[in-house]
Amino acid sequence: MAVVLFVGRVRPRVALVANARPAGRGAPTPDRITREITHVFLQKKLLQKLGPGLMHAFIFWGFIVLLPTIAEAAVAIVDKDSSLPILGDASWFAFVSDVFATLVVVGVAMAFFIRKVLKPDRFRGSHMEEADRILLLILAIVVTFLLWNASRIGFGIAEVPDARPVAHLLSNLFSSGEGTEFAERVLVWAHLLVILGFLVFLPGSKHLHIATAPANVWLAKDGPTGRLEPNRIDLELPEEDIRFGVATQKDLSRKQMLDLFSCTECGRCQEVCPAWATGKPLSPKLLIMDLRDRVVAEAAGEVELQPLVPNAVTDQVVWDCVTCGACVRECPVDIEHVDTIVDLRRNLVMAESRFPQEAAPMLRGVESQENPWGQPASARLDWAKDLDVRVLKEGDPAPEVLFWVGCAGAFDERAQKTTQSVARLLAAAGIDSAVLGPREKCTGDPARRMGHEYLFQMLAEQNVETLNGAGVTKIVASCAHCFNTLANEYPDYGGTYEVVHHTQLLSELIAAGRLQPRTGDGKITYHDACYLGRHNGEFDAPREVIGGEIEEMPRNRERSFCCGAGGARMWMEEESPRINDTRFEEAAATGAETVATACPYCLVMLDDAAKGKSSDIRVADVATLLAESTAIDPR
Ligand code: SF4
Ligand code: SF4
Repeated sequence: MAVVLFVGRVRPRVALVANARPAGRGAPTPDRITREITHVFLQKKLLQKLGPGLMHAFIFWGFIVLLPTIAEAAVAIVDKDSSLPILGDASWFAFVSDVFATLVVVGVAMAFFIRKVLKPDRFRGSHMEEADRILLLILAIVVTFLLWNASRIGFGIAEVPDARPVAHLLSNLFSSGEGTEFAERVLVWAHLLVILGFLVFLPGSKHLHIATAPANVWLAKDGPTGRLEPNRIDLELPEEDIRFGVATQKDLSRKQMLDLFSCTECGRCQEVCPAWATGKPLSPKLLIMDLRDRVVAEAAGEVELQPLVPNAVTDQVVWDCVTCGACVRECPVDIEHVDTIVDLRRNLVMAESRFPQEAAPMLRGVESQENPWGQPASARLDWAKDLDVRVLKEGDPAPEVLFWVGCAGAFDERAQKTTQSVARLLAAAGIDSAVLGPREKCTGDPARRMGHEYLFQMLAEQNVETLNGAGVTKIVASCAHCFNTLANEYPDYGGTYEVVHHTQLLSELIAAGRLQPRTGDGKITYHDACYLGRHNGEFDAPREVIGGEIEEMPRNRERSFCCGAGGARMWMEEESPRINDTRFEEAAATGAETVATACPYCLVMLDDAAKGKSSDIRVADVATLLAESTAIDPR
């Protein structure tokens, strides 16, 4: 009966995932196998928080080890003197199951301590009562298991008492006498009935993640998290065949649907989200929970099928995201919030023309002038007026390295300093480099993160045509967003190059002795840009370029806190408290005189925060600091 009930309850969820749009990610890859071992079996991501990680690991490993004991109990129900073949007679298995059952009890006790005594804020909004019920069911399963084995030892049914130290200890509760067999029967039945009750309860609870999480981890994105899944727009197709992001649950991919049924409501994502931390309505946890609840209610016919925005989540929630990826990195079951948020934005922008109006000039600028600043292409070289920079013309031989300047680097006054510094340093190191000048167009990153996939697609195709036509093989980018797009997203559009960030190239040149900086002036802190660090794993190169001692902020490297500019948020209004102010305060608290960055977006946002606070702390790119401390020809 329990199995029938379980199947009946789980079937609608299985159907939702099975009928969703294929994710195209099922094939085994080394990354997938590694993730299953590290994220699922070894609980690596959970153990980043040692206490809660151990708590979960005890319960999870106990669950794995104790699986065969369900069959053991089922056999014993039929005949108390029979046991499972092989495992039933193995004293090592008796020992292991006894120890792990005890560890599960410890894990459940730790879970209650964390939830009821420590009460971390990350649980705000989670279904706490449901979690309590689940924990009590788990506790009942292992306690009845231990007591059942204790009764078998106490009544002399089990022959290897020493192999079960904890059950042996508890066996003092039971002694031979009249009615003893009845007590043993009650315990084994109680044990099995609690397990079957748990099975029935499972499909409607967040604990379904014990079944969905391994599949979700398997389907997670291989490679850098900075790459978004393309949503190809082919205008030749009939309109009904073109998908503009995600409007309703029918547009979700299998991975996106599975994400919804894998969330454990642990709140680790919420805890690190800069939007949530600064009081915005967006919480990545609540986003996933709200989408799940809507999808389930629609599937059950409780509510009509409607667009997910604003019926499951509000427009503001969708626009609050800076695509920093902190949530994805923390999530123990590899839920991909950013891809889903961008997919929801795609529909709002391309199908509904619904987006924060303050971002409209940016989109217009990209559409008409191919840059978010709306400047003419002829102004792309203004930064190079006093420099001897080679501009790659059609038919010219390809340089050793193409310097991708980026729109911020070309048009923003503060970022232009970085561009000039990089150009000088490349020349000083004797690198054969060139820029595209007026032929360079926005990579499309802000349009894409904003949801305008079609605009991004056009720019990507045009830039790839230019780069391939010029025979470019290696690119250095001084913007973390350009770097991410060129390296991770242009291969989807036929542009495959060796792409390095300027800090990577500069650190190599320093190591090779081709640049000789003088280091050690003043206290410096370094802000890790999300699209260089967390999304692409580069933490060391910028620190090597800085060279001297760095006053690290509490949130650094993979746990860095966003500057607030990603996800096209640079072009949107933000209510106070602002993310850039919060980050700048953290930087200032280190006592540093200089905040170093390696991305023009971060430079602008942190510099704005410094100016807003009338601070005399300097914000500068690491390339500018390096150029100042290196003996180079000013031309
Ligand atoms: S990407 Fe960053 S801002 Fe967006 S939901 Fe995740 S943590 Fe929050
Ligand atoms: S999305 Fe991931 S990190 Fe966030 S609450 Fe769910 S399981 Fe936890």
